[in-house]
Amino acid sequence: MSDRAVLHVRGRVLVGPDEVRDELWVIDGRVSYDRPAGACDVRTVEGWAVPGLVDAHCHVGLDQHGAVPDDVAEKQALTDREAGTLLIRDAGSPSDTRWIDDREDLPKIIRAGRHIARTRRYIRNYAWEVEPEDLVAYVAQEARRGDGWVKLVGDWIDRDLGDLSACWPRGAVEAAIAEAHRLGTRVTAHCFAEDSLRDLVEAGIDCVEHATGLTDDTIPLFAERGVAIVPTLVNIATFPALADGGESRFPRWSAHMRRLHERRYDTVRSAYDAGVPVFVGTDAGGALSHGLAAAEVAELVTAGIPPVEALAATTWAARAWLGRPGLDEGAPADLVVYDQDPRADVRVLAAPRRVVLNGRVVG
Ligand SMILES: [Zn+2]
Repeated sequence: MSDRAVLHVRGRVLVGPDEVRDELWVIDGRVSYDRPAGACDVRTVEGWAVPGLVDAHCHVGLDQHGAVPDDVAEKQALTDREAGTLLIRDAGSPSDTRWIDDREDLPKIIRAGRHIARTRRYIRNYAWEVEPEDLVAYVAQEARRGDGWVKLVGDWIDRDLGDLSACWPRGAVEAAIAEAHRLGTRVTAHCFAEDSLRDLVEAGIDCVEHATGLTDDTIPLFAERGVAIVPTLVNIATFPALADGGESRFPRWSAHMRRLHERRYDTVRSAYDAGVPVFVGTDAGGALSHGLAAAEVAELVTAGIPPVEALAATTWAARAWLGRPGLDEGAPADLVVYDQDPRADVRVLAAPRRVVLNGRVVG
C-alpha cells in the first residue's frame, strides 16, 4: 500500500481527433484513465492535452558543418522538448546519439542511421558517400544502426549537369530497398526534384522527404502505394535564398529550385487530396533551428490541409505511422497541454502551457 505521487490532467484530453475525455492520470510515468486509489501529492495540470508532438524529419547531433558534440546535441533535444516535440524521427545523423535513449528527460528518437548519398552529391560531412555497387552494403549497415528506418539521398545537384538529378540507377534502389525490407527496416529518401520519384516508389520506398517534385504523374503512384511524404515546408521556404546563392554558377538549378518553391503549397495540397499520407517534419538540425514543429503545422494549414488533419500529422496519425502509442491506457505519459483547442486553431501549438515527458512536468 504505497502512496504514490500522481499527476492529474484535467480539462480536455484529445485521445484522438474525435475522442475527448475530461481527465487522465499519470501513475508511475504512465497514462491511466482510472482515478488511482491511495493517491497523494496530486499535481493538477489543466487545459487541452494532446500526445507529445512528433517531428518526423529532424536531425539531432548535426549542424550545418556536420556532427556536433554531445552537449550541443543535448541543447537541440531540449529546444525540441520545450516546443512540445517529444518524439523525433531522426532523418540522418553522423553522430552517435544512442546515449539520449538513457535520458528520461529528453525526447524519444527513432533513428534512420546516417544518410547514404552518392559520392560528392550531398552536403559535406553529413553522409556516407558511396557508389551504386556499395549501396546495399551501406543500407544493411545503417539498418542495423538505426531504429527501423534508413535514409537515402535520392537526388541532389549534379554539378556537371547544373541541375538536380536522380542519384541512383533503378537497379541499385531496387536492391537497396529490398535489402532494407528483408531486415525489417523502412526506407525514406531526400528528394527535391521530379525525376527520382517514380523509380523509388516502384522499388517499394516507404516515405519521401520534401517531395517538392511531386506531379500529377507521380501523386497517384504515391497514393496507390501509401507512400508517405514529409514536406518540411519550413525548410522549403529557404529555396529562394538558396537559388539566389547558386544563381551565377548554376542558373538551371536555381530556376528549378524557384519553380519547386513556387508550387510547394499546391503540391502538398494535391498530394493530400489524393490520399497521400502527409506528416510534420521540420528538417531542424541542418541549416534550420530546432523547435519548429508548430510552425510546420501552420504551414501545412496554409497549404490547404484542414487544421485537425495537420494536427493529426504531428500527433495521433504520426505516432500510429511510427508505431508509437498516443494517450493510450498504460502508454508513457508524453503529452502537451495548451490553453485552447488546437483543433480549432493550430497556432496555439506555438505556446505550450505544460510539457509532460515520461510523466514528469518538464516545461
Ligand atoms: Zn534533413
